[in-house]
Amino acid sequence: MTFDRIDMKALEEDLVRIRRDLHRHPETAWTEYRTTALIISELEKLGLPVEFGPEIHVPEKMFGMPSEAQMEACYARALAETDRPELIEKMKGGFTGCITEIQGALSGPTVGIRVDIDCNDCDEATDEKHAPARDGYASLHEHCMHACGHDAHTAIGIGTARILCAYRDVLPGKVVLVFQPGEEGLRGAASLTATGRFSECDYFFGAHVGLGISVKENLQVGAVVASSYGFLSSTKFDAVFHGKAAHAGASPDLGCNAIAAASAAVVNMLAIARHHDGSSRINIGTFHGGTGRNVIPDTATLAIETRGVTNEINEYMEKSAIRVLEGAAAMYGCTVETKFMGSAGSVVCDEELVDKTVKILEQTEGVTKVIRSGDFGGGEDVTTMMQDVQAHGGQVTEMILGMPLIAPHHNGRFDIDEKVIGLGARVFASLALELTRI
Ligand SMILES: [Zn+2]
Repeated sequence: MTFDRIDMKALEEDLVRIRRDLHRHPETAWTEYRTTALIISELEKLGLPVEFGPEIHVPEKMFGMPSEAQMEACYARALAETDRPELIEKMKGGFTGCITEIQGALSGPTVGIRVDIDCNDCDEATDEKHAPARDGYASLHEHCMHACGHDAHTAIGIGTARILCAYRDVLPGKVVLVFQPGEEGLRGAASLTATGRFSECDYFFGAHVGLGISVKENLQVGAVVASSYGFLSSTKFDAVFHGKAAHAGASPDLGCNAIAAASAAVVNMLAIARHHDGSSRINIGTFHGGTGRNVIPDTATLAIETRGVTNEINEYMEKSAIRVLEGAAAMYGCTVETKFMGSAGSVVCDEELVDKTVKILEQTEGVTKVIRSGDFGGGEDVTTMMQDVQAHGGQVTEMILGMPLIAPHHNGRFDIDEKVIGLGARVFASLALELTRI
């Protein structure tokens, strides 16, 4: 469909402005205070009701929370940077993200649309070749960067709301628009899902910009992949080794070396036999341990993630990793405890909804190429919401918005083609408006 009720050029320019503001002020999982306040302000301008704060979360399902010191520092930073401190105060403790509902004038289904809003733990390139640095909107926050395009996703969500509000009289049913915190590390979706908020959705859509298929197929903005496969099921967990400190020179035999145990575990986890049923991954991303040069280290911590192309293969990798961790700890007289930090399963998009999505995309202004299905090639905790919608009889799909990439996702040189923002908003709005007319 075309959107002749709206000055799309002006809308797109404004969404780019919002995206650049978000890019300049990136916030990692569970600290998206300023980001959420900005989204709420935008939704309020449209007269939309916004749910946010503890009411949209289940605290026991808020996985992988940062340390208290980090939470405090990010909260203080957000208060200093926002023009809506009263909103941020309600989110204290990491209760970030928000949900709005756009009620149409016509009867129809409930359609869920989800965008994610957090940034990566990553430092942004600072040289002139990197557009955000050259044009003055590079990250102001150390070790935080929107290197996965969630700043674009957030702007797309706001754009979708603006378009749908202009077409409420012809909107069938209701749109539940979700701005999810903590996608990185697969930490945020479970908490929002556990409230039961998405079980009423008849249809549910997500989308990600770029990804491997954009590189492989040389996709430009305008190319849209209507559904994804190959979501890697993934578990994130920390392993903490406890040993016994001793004088490294006088009595090393009295100690139990936690770094030695953790090192043995690292090497042997990387050697876990691969599963014959499909691809799997394991990564040990950080390793911290010890207290001093001449002390037998009594503690070591590893940040680990496993992945599998099915839930079963991921489970196999996770169980094997835990067996290795326990074996390595025993070898050195240490103990090990594991701390669950986040997870997401694999999901199969619903063909019936994909059929409809393809047809609607083919008629959407700005869409120049429609690919029915593409390899997502990674984990995404939108699958947690999608599984819940499917369990309650709804249908789901996760799209990929094609975009040329000059650097990989999660890299300090990652950048988006800003034209994808207006396109993404058009795509989501078209789907909500046309779903019952196809
Ligand atoms: Zn992402």
